[in-house]
Amino acid sequence: MFKKIPFNGFLYPLAIVLFTLLAASMACAQVQRPKLVVGLMVDQMRYEYLYRFADRYGEDGFKRLLRDGFSCENTLINYIPSFTAVGHSSVYTGSVPSIHGISGNNFMLQSSGQSMYCTQDDDVEGVGIGANEKEGKQSPRNLLASTITDEVKLATNFRSKVIGISIKDRGRILPAGHFADAAYWFDSKSGNWISSTFYMQNLPQWVTKFNAQKLAEKYLKQDWNTLYPIDTYVNSIADDNRYEGKWPGEKTATFPHRTSELMKDVGLELIKTTPYGNALTLDMAKEAIKNEKLGQNQPGVPDFLCVSLSSTDYVGHRYSLTAVEIEDIYLRLDKDIATFLRYLDERVGKDNYTVFLTADHAASYNPLFYTDNKGNGGYLFTRQFKRELDKELQSKFGHSKIIRSVLNYQVHLNYDKIDSLQLDMDAIKKVITQYLKKQEGVAYVIDMETANPGDMFIPAPIREKIINGYNRKRSGAIQIIAEPQWYNGTPRSPGTSHGVWSAYDSHIPLIFMGWGIKPGVSNKQVHIVDIAPTLASLLHVMEPNGNIGKPITEVLGQ
Ligand SMILES: [Zn+2]
Repeated sequence: MFKKIPFNGFLYPLAIVLFTLLAASMACAQVQRPKLVVGLMVDQMRYEYLYRFADRYGEDGFKRLLRDGFSCENTLINYIPSFTAVGHSSVYTGSVPSIHGISGNNFMLQSSGQSMYCTQDDDVEGVGIGANEKEGKQSPRNLLASTITDEVKLATNFRSKVIGISIKDRGRILPAGHFADAAYWFDSKSGNWISSTFYMQNLPQWVTKFNAQKLAEKYLKQDWNTLYPIDTYVNSIADDNRYEGKWPGEKTATFPHRTSELMKDVGLELIKTTPYGNALTLDMAKEAIKNEKLGQNQPGVPDFLCVSLSSTDYVGHRYSLTAVEIEDIYLRLDKDIATFLRYLDERVGKDNYTVFLTADHAASYNPLFYTDNKGNGGYLFTRQFKRELDKELQSKFGHSKIIRSVLNYQVHLNYDKIDSLQLDMDAIKKVITQYLKKQEGVAYVIDMETANPGDMFIPAPIREKIINGYNRKRSGAIQIIAEPQWYNGTPRSPGTSHGVWSAYDSHIPLIFMGWGIKPGVSNKQVHIVDIAPTLASLLHVMEPNGNIGKPITEVLGQ
């Protein structure tokens, strides 16, 4: 029997206290998450750029990230090929081409021989661009695994908002995942930010208004000169050098780049290869934060913004690593990042967001620069390889076109032809591998369909990268591994490239900063696939469904 307690004057305040405590404990039970996660992917950023140009970095850009965040100083890519679409997919899926299926920027469906662009989707139309324009027909459908952004969407019953922004299509579509609210990329014909019907039927009004400002043109009219007097760029070689590529209409690839003039011939495409491409991307990112109210969702429901800064990659490919252009674009990016972080502080609140900065791959020195300075290196002429192999296969088997292509350092075979003509597959592969093994700059040639990975006479770390990168349905049967400082090109190609297993292509920066991140630094080796599970742990959501990485626990736990 309970004794009835009279509700007297003494018990009323007690009830209120108890109710308040209960309410407070329920509020504590609310899962703790940041209001916004921002991924900053700096395309082609080598790890060393955090330090190489640091003398003239300000306190609020890269240095703020290093000071207030956690830097994983030995983050490596654990697959080949180290290309853009593959890197963006791997960061966000915690997975590798073998599983997530993005085995190159372009790959080939082995069963049919159909070439596929990583984000190609013929079933969708562009939005903000004319119907049937190739630039608009894109979606993440070729990405076979879920992304961390997908998992955040699932975990919050789709209440989180996910948006991807990048001047380069593959830079925003793959990170934002399959359930994204929107992804926007730059159409250089019109100078507009566009999307596809995968996400929406019409551009939001704020995007149309932003496009109407014609910012790309305004930026290019300013020309591109160095931020400081050019003779103070001590981390680069002389501006007029033979490792740089020129624009049509330029006599030399030197400063100042008269973008106001060049744009008349090259079009707005030009902005991608200037620091203004990054500035414009961050302008668009700020506009998205403001208009889509990112970081203002219900408590415990984080929004996610994926930003990819692609101009560093375009500038690297054109001018190579040694150029004043690279030093200048990083000095400018440092300032742009500082401004962007300040914007996040003001809009979302300093303690309310988590940001991470990484790269999709790094890059190599130009082989000619290397050999001019008495190092070893060179170009693999894969087009010539194919031509010569075509001739040899024709003479031995009486048929041409047995090889479909040499792409992503892989030989892709024409299975239909080999089957229908009942040609000897083993004999064909033997001819190809024996030819390739003789070529200068080729270290290993592996038949991926018959090789027993454990038996490959190749150092284990490279073997692992080969296996992780091989997708049975999308990768070529025969894999070429180059010697260090050799890459695919044409004789004396200017600029740079990337794609191989070596540290120069695969050692990327990785810094987390903000909500839930313990400031610090570690030299422990971690991998690109560890980023997504680290974010999953931070956010208390499931890791993506193809994840093979492990959370970097040192980063977590403020
Ligand atoms: Zn890239």
